[in-house]
This record gives sequence, C-alpha cells and structure tokens, in this order.
Amino acid sequence: MDSAPWWLLIAPFLLFGLGWIAARIDIGHLLTESRALPSSYFKGLNFLLNEQPDRAIDAFIEVVKLDPETTELHFALGNLFRRRGETERAIRMHQNLLSRPDLPAEQRGHAMFELGQDYLKAGLLDRAEEAFRQLSDGGHATDAKRHLLDIFQLEKEWRKAIEAARELQESGAGSNQVRIAQYHCELAQTAMNESRLDDAHAELEAALAANRRSVRALLLLGDVAVQQGEDEEAIAAWKRVEQQSAPHVALVGERLIDAYRRLGRFPEGLKLVKSYLDAYPSIDLLEVVLRATAEADGPLAANTLAREALHRSPSLLALGQYLDTRSQLATPNERDDLEVVKNLIHNHTRRIGRYICTNCGFKARQFHWQCPGCTHWESYPPRRSEELENQTQS
Ligand SMILES: [Zn+2]
Repeated sequence: MDSAPWWLLIAPFLLFGLGWIAARIDIGHLLTESRALPSSYFKGLNFLLNEQPDRAIDAFIEVVKLDPETTELHFALGNLFRRRGETERAIRMHQNLLSRPDLPAEQRGHAMFELGQDYLKAGLLDRAEEAFRQLSDGGHATDAKRHLLDIFQLEKEWRKAIEAARELQESGAGSNQVRIAQYHCELAQTAMNESRLDDAHAELEAALAANRRSVRALLLLGDVAVQQGEDEEAIAAWKRVEQQSAPHVALVGERLIDAYRRLGRFPEGLKLVKSYLDAYPSIDLLEVVLRATAEADGPLAANTLAREALHRSPSLLALGQYLDTRSQLATPNERDDLEVVKNLIHNHTRRIGRYICTNCGFKARQFHWQCPGCTHWESYPPRRSEELENQTQS
C-alpha cells in the first residue's frame, strides 16, 4: 500500500468527477434543445403516450403551424392521415410542403411521392398519375413507376401498362414478361369482343413472344380460331396447353369436346379428354367427361365412371358428381331420397369448390387470371379448394 503511486489513489475521484461533468453537459444540451421545441410538441407526445391519437394529432398540427420548418413532422402526419383514410388532410399536408420554395430537391421528391400515394388512396387516378410522372428520376423513380403500372392496370390502359412494365424491367426491377403477356391477352380479349379477329390474333402472338408458356394466350388463340370457323386450328392450340402446364388442361376439356363435336368427331374428343383425366385427375375434367360419357354411352356408363373416380380419390365434390349420375338411373322414389342427400352436401360443396389465390387467399367461384383481391397475375391454380386441401394432406 505504501508503495502505491499517489495518482492511483486519486484516480477513482478523477473518473467520478469527469462522469459528473459529462452528465451535466448532456442534460444541459437536452434542456437547451427541448426549450427550442414548442410546448404543443410535448402535449402531443403526452396524448400519444396516453393513447389519445386524435388529441395528439391536434397538438402536432399546432406544432406544424407554429414551426413550418418541421418537415419530418409533416411527413409523419401526412402518412398517418393517409393510413386513417383522411386523404384530404394528407393531401393538404403534402401540398403544404411542396409549396415551399426552399424545400431541398430530395425532400421535394419525397413529398411528391407521398402526394401521389394520397391521390391513389383517394381514387383520384389522374392526379396520382400526374404526380408519379414527375418522378422520372431520383430516389423514388422506381417506386413511382410501379405505382404508375398499378394505375394503368386499374384503368385497363393495357398499352401504357405494357410500356411501363418494359421500362421497369429495363431499370432492373425484375422480369415482367408474365404480366406483359397478360396485358397482350387483355388487348386480344377486347379485340375479340369487337370482332377484330386479326388484331386479336396479332396480340396473342405478341403474348406468346413475351411469355412462350402463356396458357391464356393458347386458350384465346383457340377461341379466335373457333370464331373464324377453324375448329381444327383451335384444337391444335388447345392441345399445346398440355406441354405448357399440365394442370391447366382442366380449362380446355369442355372447349375440346365441343370443337370435336362440331367436326363430327365427338368420340375422338371424349377419348382425348378422358386420357387427360387419367393423367391429370381434376374435378373439373371429371365433370366434363361424365357429361360427355352420358351423352355418348348413356347414364349407366357415366355412373360407373363416377363411381370409379369416387373410389379412386374420395372427396365431397366427387360424391356430388356421383350422386348426379346416380339420380339419372334412380326410380322416382329413390330420386327424391337422392335429392335430399344432394341438397345436404350442396351448401358444403359450394364452399369447398372454389378457386383460391396463392398470393392472398381470395376465394372465387370463377377462375381468374388476375386476382380480384390482390391484383396478382396467374396466382390461381386451376384446382378447386377441396382438391388443393386433399393434395396437401396426402
Ligand atoms: Zn390474391
């Protein structure tokens, strides 16, 4: 102890002293800073902490009025208003920012981007488009283009959508070929509705050039051929679906049988669709085959087929179809009993016989190429919900 140098003895006091001074400086700095903030700011914070968001907003608005320099608070409030659906207030907040002549370029871009989103949320698509168009470069350019693409889709402006999707793709934002093919299919569909069959054909070729695996383009190519009276050509297009995506043959079964019927080769069509059913079992194909079998070979043959299918892969949807074929053979009394059973399971099969979007889970009675829930393209497998459930269970 005696040999310890003098400075070792005072070191602890020295360190304590330094810490005390540092703490004083920090507190002093904080106090100076907080004195610069208007008291409404603290009132707002207090309301927020007490979970009174409406009163907090009023207090913050007061801050913004007193001190228009608080850009971050403008952005925060604008965002909050938009999320709460108060788009008018959000728009005013961001317009307010943009009206400042001294606003730096980066923040001007940010404010314009937010304003575009406000307009979008308010359903003012023209104004949203105008706002996003002004952001052709800078940090928000890519996101603005994505919003523009969404707007063109909403407006069904497919030509503009194709252009925007290509630009986005070229800016390195990932492949858009699937969408581009779908946009061409939309244009083809419109042309078909207006009996411009050559235009429709050209759009479908463009769709296949963008995405050679586009099932929808093949489907429509066949439909165009039918309208032109070329059933042979239609069959050729629909047969190509098997190579593109086997599960999607479920969508062409009925079309194929009808085309073969028109050509006077009904049994050939039935044989082809039956071979699809064997290779790619599907409740939709089963329904088509059962109906065609009843037509070609009578109700007993259809019932035998339905019974086999039910035993091979039991499901309520298959049971429903079996009961349909069974009631064709029944005596009037039996038919009454079968009707009761059919009605009992009908409510249930309606619920489990829907298509489901793999992106958002939206259920639909109809098959969609674009989900009405989340607007994703090609997110519906051509399978009914019960089939999908049975698939995941086995
Ligand atoms: Zn969806």
